[in-house]
Amino acid sequence: MRYLQKEETLSLDEKKALQSKRLIETVNRVYENVPFYRQKMIDMGITPGDIKSIDDLNKLPFTTKQDLRDHYPYGLFAVPMEEVVRVHASSGTTGRPTVVGYTKNDIDVWADAVARCLTAYGFEKGDILQVAYGYGLFTGGFGLHYGAEKIGVTVIPMSGGNTKKQIQLIQEFGTTALACTPSYALYIGETMKNMGIDPKSTNLRLGVFGAEPWTEEMREQIEELLGIKAMNIYGLSEIMGPGVAFDCHHKDGLHINDDLFVPEIVNPHTLENEPYGTEGELVFTCIKKEALPLLRYRTRDLTYLDNTPCQCGRSLVRMGRISGRSDDMLIIRGVNVFPSQVESIILKIAEVAPHYVLIVDRVNNLDTLEVWVEAKEGIFTDTIKTLERVEKQITSELFSLLGLHVKVKLVEPKTIERSEGKAKRIIDRRQK
Ligand code: ADP
Ligand code: ZN
Repeated sequence: MRYLQKEETLSLDEKKALQSKRLIETVNRVYENVPFYRQKMIDMGITPGDIKSIDDLNKLPFTTKQDLRDHYPYGLFAVPMEEVVRVHASSGTTGRPTVVGYTKNDIDVWADAVARCLTAYGFEKGDILQVAYGYGLFTGGFGLHYGAEKIGVTVIPMSGGNTKKQIQLIQEFGTTALACTPSYALYIGETMKNMGIDPKSTNLRLGVFGAEPWTEEMREQIEELLGIKAMNIYGLSEIMGPGVAFDCHHKDGLHINDDLFVPEIVNPHTLENEPYGTEGELVFTCIKKEALPLLRYRTRDLTYLDNTPCQCGRSLVRMGRISGRSDDMLIIRGVNVFPSQVESIILKIAEVAPHYVLIVDRVNNLDTLEVWVEAKEGIFTDTIKTLERVEKQITSELFSLLGLHVKVKLVEPKTIERSEGKAKRIIDRRQK
């Protein structure tokens, strides 16, 4: 099932024509209305007339999070404030939040984009979606909310946190689907079990998870724990919010709504475009936004693009799972390490729970990394030998993957802090 049959199955030529038309309109608008972009284009010696099709995209200037911060709060808006009906702000995971705005039309396009995702996941009228993403400045709650209403799904606007109440609602309101971060889904499932409730005894059948990097292994664990299909949703507030990309049931990468947001992959050092299949920094240009149409926004998320046909029949280009955000990349003794690499290893080990943190420190001017992983109930009461064997196994598997000797420490069950929103995977003890 598709929500927008036409937009999701455009031929290559049709897509190129649509993207080109929308890009040209956008460039003209920002040149007229956003002094920042006009100045950038003047500095680069280009005018809107130089952008003749989507092939000229890489002539345009990049936009960074810092640019948004420098023009805090509304400096990059392309419409007068009277036309802005909503503002949100990024969650500020990596510093001062950035402020984003939407016109009435933007809100509508956003809801449609999320509706496409939910339809691809298999949502139908009669589904009851509990939105456990935060409502407020964060885009997660409202984003899912409006998209679900668009397709006639019943929404329970629970927002994040208050885990016992989440569980009570799941049981009593007949919730069939849950939207939250993958780490919060795990926490909810775990808490249900601790309360003696079998998560599989509820009506839950679907999960809409995103807002943080997670691995395929994590998906399997969540599906097993909750007895649901766990679907991936990607987005970022600067571009819109959730609904930029989604996976279909073939789970072979995420389809990007590329009639709205044109993706590129660039090498983060040279800023040159990378071909399909090569990993680099994901960059988006908004071609159908009114209030905040960013050009070539550098997401700092790392992935690759895939233009091979998907079995679902959608022609929306796909991106791989986000392997990490460049802000989360640790460089330990010259080796790049992402939390997702650690996650993919530890989640395969039967004796440990899917809760971990990476602890970075600096000893004698050298960065060190320790991985703390929670043992499953029962292991700690086992012999010391079991603990040592599991620690050794993880150490050696991390070594094969990273070529780095990482100290692994099994910690007691329930000692690693649980997250109701975006999980904090890195504890940095280095003095800045
Ligand atoms: P912040 O940058 O403050 O976290 P947002 O709340 O807008 O701002 O979060 C957007 C970011 O969340 C993305 O750039 C990406 O790093 C991460 N993210 C969102 N969805 C996913 C997903 N499905 N998989 C991996 N990472 C995701
Ligand atoms: Zn598909």
